[in-house]
Amino acid sequence: MSAPITQDVLTIPRKLPETGKLNLVGLTRDALRDVLIEAGTPEKQAKMRVNQIWQWIYQWGVRDFSSMTNLAKPYRAMLEEKFSIEIPEIVSRNVSADGTRKYLVRIAGGHEVEVVYIPETDRGTLCISSQVGCTLTCSFCHTGTQKLVRNLTAGEIIGQVMLARDDLGEWPEPGQGTGENGPRLLSNIVLMGMGEPLYNFDNVRDAMKIAMDGEGISLSRRRITLSTSGVVPEIAKTAEEIGCLLAVSFHATTDEVRNKLVPINKRWNIEELLGALRDYPRLSNSERITFEYVMLKDVNDSDEDARRLVKLIRGIPAKINLIPFNEWPGSPYERSDWERIERFADIVHKAGYASPIRTPRGEDIMAACGQLKSATERARKSRKDIEAEAGLG
Ligand code: SAH
Ligand code: SF4
Repeated sequence: MSAPITQDVLTIPRKLPETGKLNLVGLTRDALRDVLIEAGTPEKQAKMRVNQIWQWIYQWGVRDFSSMTNLAKPYRAMLEEKFSIEIPEIVSRNVSADGTRKYLVRIAGGHEVEVVYIPETDRGTLCISSQVGCTLTCSFCHTGTQKLVRNLTAGEIIGQVMLARDDLGEWPEPGQGTGENGPRLLSNIVLMGMGEPLYNFDNVRDAMKIAMDGEGISLSRRRITLSTSGVVPEIAKTAEEIGCLLAVSFHATTDEVRNKLVPINKRWNIEELLGALRDYPRLSNSERITFEYVMLKDVNDSDEDARRLVKLIRGIPAKINLIPFNEWPGSPYERSDWERIERFADIVHKAGYASPIRTPRGEDIMAACGQLKSATERARKSRKDIEAEAGLG
């Protein structure tokens, strides 16, 4: 791609010096209430203080207690002394020719994750990460070549939304509701960045509760999609405890092929996965499960695959999202030809399912699906490990 790409290294000093203070970002309502009471807040007032502090932090993007003007001055001083409001730091930002922004974000310990903002005409989607690296080794995924370094905390997960709003300049004036001035720039969240969100369930849940709370980021649960490679025992919990929309990295129509592409299939196979999806309690025709299907040339893209796919998912309200494979340095697959992808989409569509082909966004800055991997992380799985796990060797 020849259009200009910009990269600017931002050194926004938004992190407080290491103070040893407790960071309030990412605490659940109950946890915040408890620490406020412990700090001397009368129990009767605690609920109201939680509401007020949440609004300042999550609705209006305020990072210093002294600006919280509806709290008494001595109370603000107490908060200042004991607590902090910290989010991860943007190290660099790349802007693609198509407007996609990729942020490299530094979290405590010096680790890095990537966050991608994708503007569209009717929405703006933020793709956030849940882990540094991934324990799984899907053979077509760049993140899968990076060893897991650690789970992100709830504060680091919701902090990605906050730093994107900082960068987009999208915090309303105090007192105003979010979205009162028209559609939001950041209107949707997808947990499709680095990591397997269901292997970091509690932190993902706590962060998404803040995202959905009316006094938090205030996004509808229908604007949040969690993508899993198929951690079957956690799927029902996702419906019960988070209630967001679900996407599943399906990618193959036989266990033999899925074992190679998505090795977690050896633990929970296609049949078990489909069983869990059939039971996903929130299913209705308006709330479909998204089946993600990466199009790999001569691997999973035949007419037969398309027909098997529609047969397998029969009875599940579903949409099939076809993702043309995004290459990365050393990737072992090729993207299916465009005609093949269209033919596949056509078969799925004729069987009655929406089958959009996901246009790759931000490819020129390596921001497309499955291309994320922090360049500075040195911990790599060996090629042998990956090939052995995927049965490619
Ligand atoms: N770990 C979760 C979420 C992150 S991946 C999961 O696997 O679902 C988000 C989506 O991008 C998944 O469907 C994943 O399979 C897909 N993906 C990974 N690598 C890709 C690549 N190189 N090209 C296209 N899609 C890819
Ligand atoms: Fe992990 Fe998802 Fe990549 Fe698989 S596709 S390695 S689960 S991030």
